[in-house]
Amino acid sequence: MTVDALPVPGPLLEARSVGRSYGRTPALREASLSVTAGEILAIMGPSGSGKSTLLHCLAGIFTPDAGEVRFDGRRLDTLSDARRSELRRTAFGFVFQFGQLVPELTVADNVALPLLLGRAGRRRAYRRADDWLERLELDGLRGRRTGELSGGQAQRVAIARALVTRPKVVFADEPTGALDSLTGEKVMELLVGLARQEGTTVIVVTHDARVAACADREVIVRDGRVTDPYASGVLR
Ligand code: ADP
Repeated sequence: MTVDALPVPGPLLEARSVGRSYGRTPALREASLSVTAGEILAIMGPSGSGKSTLLHCLAGIFTPDAGEVRFDGRRLDTLSDARRSELRRTAFGFVFQFGQLVPELTVADNVALPLLLGRAGRRRAYRRADDWLERLELDGLRGRRTGELSGGQAQRVAIARALVTRPKVVFADEPTGALDSLTGEKVMELLVGLARQEGTTVIVVTHDARVAACADREVIVRDGRVTDPYASGVLR
């Protein structure tokens, strides 16, 4: 078989000419982007350029005012709120800068939570949470409240929680933004390493070139537009 005959995988997640405004402030203008299964993509660009808004549109948290978002070839932006919530719970995982853990709950509770919300049985949910805590060498902390953890520990718990449902895509918004550079690098290495083992796609918003260096590819957002050599047809 020649290289030309190899099948080219279609995009797993795609934004097509997406526009989104906050009142009169345009945040995205005709933003287009695509990511294939298993790819690790960094979204870079100056503060206020629209990176977070783009990530939220791709994840079905915001619906765009114009354009389309497709997941696995099907429109995501036209789904009902309930269907989009279900998709987020079953197919997507999230690692944000802070705030995604419930501080009053323990580490094990936080990691089991997405499975419990998906109506997995308690025993199964906690067994799977424990597997992930072990994998991330967090098992010593399983009974601690997440409000008492260091920033780096909290982000490792957040990674376990994002991956416990075996999502197709993990969305990370400045996941190392609140960490010192060494801890941030370790958190990023962990996220990327686990994603590769699991075949999970990762879309990471960052302004840190070292974080972006962990990715397979990067795009730049400027003034609400995406520079993506693949989507623009320059590269295939
Ligand atoms: P980035 O993630 O690149 O910093 P954002 O997507 O957060 O950019 O913001 C893009 C633009 O939208 C900015 O001009 C920002 O001020 C504006 N914006 C973001 N969130 C809101 C909001 N909730 N209300 C009004 N304007 C917002």
